[in-house]
Amino acid sequence: MIIICKPEATDEQIAHIEDAIRKWGLKPHTSRGVERTVIGVIGPEERIREKPLAAFPGVADVTPVMKLYKLASYEFTRKRTVIDVGGVKIGDQKKLVLMSGPCSVESREQILEIAKIVKKAGASVLRGGAFKPRTSPYAFQGLGKEGLKLLAEARQETGLPVITELMDTKDVEAVEEYADIIQIGARNMQNFSLLKEVGRCQKPVMLKRGMAATIKDVLLSAEYILSEGNMKVMLCERGIRTFETYTRNTLDLSAVPALKKESHLPVIVDPTHGAGHRDLIPTMALAAVAAGADGIMIEVHNDPEAALSDGEQAMLPDKFEALVGQMRAVAAAIGKQI
Ligand code: PEP
Ligand code: MN
Repeated sequence: MIIICKPEATDEQIAHIEDAIRKWGLKPHTSRGVERTVIGVIGPEERIREKPLAAFPGVADVTPVMKLYKLASYEFTRKRTVIDVGGVKIGDQKKLVLMSGPCSVESREQILEIAKIVKKAGASVLRGGAFKPRTSPYAFQGLGKEGLKLLAEARQETGLPVITELMDTKDVEAVEEYADIIQIGARNMQNFSLLKEVGRCQKPVMLKRGMAATIKDVLLSAEYILSEGNMKVMLCERGIRTFETYTRNTLDLSAVPALKKESHLPVIVDPTHGAGHRDLIPTMALAAVAAGADGIMIEVHNDPEAALSDGEQAMLPDKFEALVGQMRAVAAAIGKQI
């Protein structure tokens, strides 16, 4: 912790800050410059992280030296985390994982059919929402537990592990029972009770970036899960809200190298919810692969016109298959395989 004093800070005010630091069991190291006095705090920073140092008279600025996200930070492990989901290695630097499927599980026929399509195309994880976070309360809310059972059936048929969203702490047991990866959606990225709950789960968790969340916010939300003991966390960039309305969100691809620089956790990119229009998805998916994403999540539907959610952004099976071919080529250029 470094405390920068105001130019007009008096000797009494500086002494008062030093006394407080000693009282909290740390050592002040004061450098008096011509313009300002800077106090370095020596000792375990977590002891004074919560103290209102900025409230002390004479203090201009307080800068922590340690990162607030300790377990999520790259320094914590100094190697990239690899999460094994039924043999699919997420975060392996030589692999690119494709997670694909419909926005929502709609029926037995629909999920089984799409599961087979995405598997054939090269996906290794099946996605599908059973609990849907819809902007309107009148929109299709998902099939709930029935949807989870259908996902399990699709896994049985295809061998693909499944990822599905958990929205409410009351459904944690059901989702944990059926899902191979628990998804926390953008709207719940800062639902701290939900984050703590999945932190106590054994299953891997994919945490999506909130629409108005900074990189630091995402990492602090991940820290909530990690600090409860679940170290199998992956992060997902899915676009943030900006002034632009042409796209559904603004896919922030700089989040990929930024998150990988700051953290050891795998990073997935979801260009579907980022772009919101199926025409834009292939280019953004290829860019995400080139940016170093560990995985790509894409919505696919065999009959988008009849889809109960996000039909306009679902890729058609043949287009998805062609895109997988292109993703393979870009991945190969950076030493990865699908
Ligand atoms: C989803 O993946 O189904 C979803 C709702 O995404 P997001 O939380 O990113 O909006
Ligand atoms: Mn969707």
